Amino acid sequence: MTPRPDFKALEQAIAAPPGEFRRDYLQVKDLRVSFDGFVAVDGVDLVVTSGDLRFLIGPNGAGKTTLIDAITGLAKATGSASFGGVELLGLPSHKIVRASIGRTFQTASVIEELSVLQNLDIAAGLHRKPRELLGRRKGIPEAVQIAIETIGLAGLATAPAGVLAHGQKQWLEIGMLLVQDARCLLLDEPVAGMSAAERDQTGELLKRIGEQRTVVVVEHDMEFLRSFADSVTVLHQGKVLAEGTVAQVQADPKVVEVYLGESDASA
Ligand code: ADP
Ligand code: MG
Repeated sequence: MTPRPDFKALEQAIAAPPGEFRRDYLQVKDLRVSFDGFVAVDGVDLVVTSGDLRFLIGPNGAGKTTLIDAITGLAKATGSASFGGVELLGLPSHKIVRASIGRTFQTASVIEELSVLQNLDIAAGLHRKPRELLGRRKGIPEAVQIAIETIGLAGLATAPAGVLAHGQKQWLEIGMLLVQDARCLLLDEPVAGMSAAERDQTGELLKRIGEQRTVVVVEHDMEFLRSFADSVTVLHQGKVLAEGTVAQVQADPKVVEVYLGESDASA
């Protein structure tokens, strides 16, 4: 017998979300980035809560990567970007990492000569004190163990990262963010160049990770988006063109005109 949902508890939870939920959201306000007068991000407002797997789409040059660069301190921006109430703009990158923000790049940046485990260990070291890093290691830290299982690479722990398939390298990068305890993950085209099977596995991984974290995925692949996005923000010429569920965004004539129509036609 299926238990009946506790509607009263649900209503209370919606009216007063737990503190954790209230704090764990990414809020971008009137964000602007310009390069020598060219405005790449033009007044973007964005709120992404944890548990809402958000896809950020838009034609080439829409400003998706620049938006992530601005949030992670790689591009100079005005406006505001905060996570957990901590203002990120103006912080040096190590403080942005400490504010629990993690990102990946289109090209994976794992250390190919080191093993999967060593790559994760190094990432974990960001939160360890220098003395602990120098000290003798006692087994595998729990965070590393959990991460390697989450990303499905436990069987390849001692393999050099260089021998991993393209998709597996992206998963390792995601694992590196997990051991750093990133609670907000910004992933720039994580499935570009992956096989269909790898894309599906990545989608499942992102769903799992996104249950308790704030995740923004930049992506072009419409099929991938339809399968895994909880919500979508469409960027065009540096501005938010539309936002909503996959169905809402797909039905938006503005979106069809600048993006979906064009991409579906070419797919
Ligand atoms: P997307 O990731 O959506 O494809 P980008 O954020 O990479 O788009 O780029 C947005 C716009 O900003 C593009 O027109 C791009 O040429 C420009 N741009 C990005 N980075 C720089 C830079 N460092 N200097 C000058 N222009 C840039
Ligand atoms: Mg880009």
